[in-house]
Amino acid sequence: MKACDPKEERRLRTQQGLLSIKKELILLRMEIKIGDVVRLRKAHACGSYEWEVIRVGVDIGIRCLKCQRRVLLERNAFERRLKEVVSQD
Ligand SMILES: [Zn+2]
Repeated sequence: MKACDPKEERRLRTQQGLLSIKKELILLRMEIKIGDVVRLRKAHACGSYEWEVIRVGVDIGIRCLKCQRRVLLERNAFERRLKEVVSQD
């Protein structure tokens, strides 16, 4: 088995770091704000796809527009589920 090249390892690690920064930038560019209405990829248990953003921070808090249930998602979980921003102020 070939020993791991430390240079290659460093390159890969930097790449991964850059990828997560890119993801952050995507979210920042979208400028998700409290009061925004977003559409997720998967329907809620009640059948609605649309949610209002009620909290922005390390976690994103959203409230289902149909059943009013509140859910807290980690930022990257939110990002994965987000399909589009429906309306912004
Ligand atoms: Zn719901």
